[in-house]
Amino acid sequence: MDQIYMDHNATTPVKPAVAEAVADVLANVGNPSSVHRHGRLARRLVEDARQQVAALVGADPSQVTFTSGGTEANQLALQGCGRDRVLVSAVEHPSVLVADLGAWLIPVDGDGRLELAALQAKLLESDVPALVSVMLANNETGVIQPVSEAAAIAHDHGALFHCDAVQAAGKIAFDLAALDADLLSISAHKMGGPMGVGALINRPGVKLTALVRGGGQERGLRSGTENVSGIIGFGKAAELALEGRADIANLAAGRDRLEARVREIAPGTRFFGAGAERLPNTSCLTMLGVDSETQVMALDLAGISVSAGSACSSGKVQASHVLEAMGGSGAENAIRVSLGWSSRDDDIDKFLEAWGSLYARKGSGREQAAPAA
Ligand code: PLP
Repeated sequence: MDQIYMDHNATTPVKPAVAEAVADVLANVGNPSSVHRHGRLARRLVEDARQQVAALVGADPSQVTFTSGGTEANQLALQGCGRDRVLVSAVEHPSVLVADLGAWLIPVDGDGRLELAALQAKLLESDVPALVSVMLANNETGVIQPVSEAAAIAHDHGALFHCDAVQAAGKIAFDLAALDADLLSISAHKMGGPMGVGALINRPGVKLTALVRGGGQERGLRSGTENVSGIIGFGKAAELALEGRADIANLAAGRDRLEARVREIAPGTRFFGAGAERLPNTSCLTMLGVDSETQVMALDLAGISVSAGSACSSGKVQASHVLEAMGGSGAENAIRVSLGWSSRDDDIDKFLEAWGSLYARKGSGREQAAPAA
């Protein structure tokens, strides 16, 4: 396909070595719970993958529970930890913001950074043991949260701390101990692995109740025959991500070049979260006067795939809760451009050409749309 892919935060292409590892497993038979040789081979492959995934986040393999993805890992953490009082940042992914948990939303500042003082004040209001959940990097803006500071505040108040590291894993270096997280979620398809597999990593001693019960796989925390090929792909992707983090860090140069040029073309553009530390691959930018859906469709026609707000919920035309939580204007005019391991410098030139021409047709002049006095 000629279409340029600039939506790596939605999902990033499966790396060739991952596809090869998955194909190899699919060519063989074996249930990891079977005691015969076929079963033992499948078990060994799953346990090797567990080590690779654990290594990516500095955990012990015994702390890794494989799930069907980041969504299920988040649900297992939030619902399985047994805490009735839940505090989550206002910019979390929808899989954390599930309504029935009745979570209190920790506000963020204009750059999307967590208001630590608000978290502290809220925790002081009650002695009921809480769970605090704060993502490491935001999927829409790439903004990196002060997770270890938030975890320290949570722990000072006897709360458990969960971190959704789905967007951060494979893009920036971190480890469970430094983050001080009790629970951490990650997902394979954001780092070059297959979709439909993820993991919850838990600190020893953190008690969880399973959401999916049955045969007792995954130490009883997630029943169901393991997604062996997916898990093997996840392991390979984690190994490659660990080796290739410098390449992802280098994407910042392309992202910054894109933003600098857009700023020249349209000085009124808002880059959400640009005043905060961000993932190196993400830009969330406005074209004033042109709504997000129109931009996404126009860029699609011009041969470029980007998303409006959160691609996890794309298809739904509604303002992004993340951008709205950051305040100010522009939420309805924002698109997300996210680069990845297969991006080329050339992609950025093509994006700038298409963005510039759309701006000339539809956006130019709207920035000063307020009538003259
Ligand atoms: N958390 C964040 C921050 C995400 O960006 C996503 C997906 O976009 C998820 C969780 C859900 O992960 P999955 O797609 O593996 O269910």
